[in-house]
Amino acid sequence: MSVLSRPELGAWPALGYVGSPLDRAAHLRSNAGERIADPEARFYLLGGELVALKGEGPVFDPLFSRAEAQAQGRGEPLFLGLDAGAPRFALSFDPGLREELEGQGLKVTDLRSVAVGGLVLPRHLPPIACGKALFGWHGRHGFCANCGSASRIVDAGWRRDCPSCGAQHFPRTDPVVIMLTAAGDRCLMGRQPHFAPGMWSCLAGFVEPGETIEEAVRRETLEEAGLTTGRVTYRSCQPWPFPMSLMIGCLAEATSRDIVIDRNELEDARWFHRDEAALMLARTHPDGLFVPPPVAIAHHLIRAFVEGINA
Ligand SMILES: [Zn+2]
Repeated sequence: MSVLSRPELGAWPALGYVGSPLDRAAHLRSNAGERIADPEARFYLLGGELVALKGEGPVFDPLFSRAEAQAQGRGEPLFLGLDAGAPRFALSFDPGLREELEGQGLKVTDLRSVAVGGLVLPRHLPPIACGKALFGWHGRHGFCANCGSASRIVDAGWRRDCPSCGAQHFPRTDPVVIMLTAAGDRCLMGRQPHFAPGMWSCLAGFVEPGETIEEAVRRETLEEAGLTTGRVTYRSCQPWPFPMSLMIGCLAEATSRDIVIDRNELEDARWFHRDEAALMLARTHPDGLFVPPPVAIAHHLIRAFVEGINA
């Protein structure tokens, strides 16, 4: 293993949605309703993809008092945990009220923009991501998957119970492997059709039932790019609330070189030399090519390769 010096990239940036300051305090969930009235309680206001923020910026405040939240929100608050003892909840608002909320002086924008633009302190991103994922799950799981009856929220959002058959349903998260596959001084990156022009990234895909992380990495790399892979190394992971995944970041060693692109999955895929990838990380590539921003784990996997870590 060698670690290359890349002073042009500066200090290693922070990954988004990780490092939550909250104690999830699961033992308080069954009676979390009592804590809504705690004067220290604060609420994140989330509406689908949107987050409501207050203040002047450029760094906004995503925490609302109970009175502020209840004036805008709807439904049951979800208990996210304790921040130094202070209860934190998520409450949903109708995304159709965006213009109305903006008219009241709030900043309302989507979570990706909040994260990439640094519109809140990084410590708020994990609880916002948690709330968004939970609301997304509740929104699609109103009926019992066992018998089809309407289910109800219990434990402040951490379970749904079916009154008809008694089944209990728990919020889930979907494992996704995301990998940078390398061969010597070159790494494989691909483009999905919806990517912004010029952006290239790691390949990724859902882990299937009965599969290990390593097997999923090898299968996805073979399916999407036609490459076989040998050693797979886990590097780090990231909750990804779009809608509710855990991105499992890996580095993989290619054992073949000829790329065969699955055009149903990728618009393009090719090898990039380490030096070219460095320019894409630094956003100084002469053709304007770039990789995802530091908030995304792909950025960190590409940087690990560029710096020679585990390569
Ligand atoms: Zn049921």
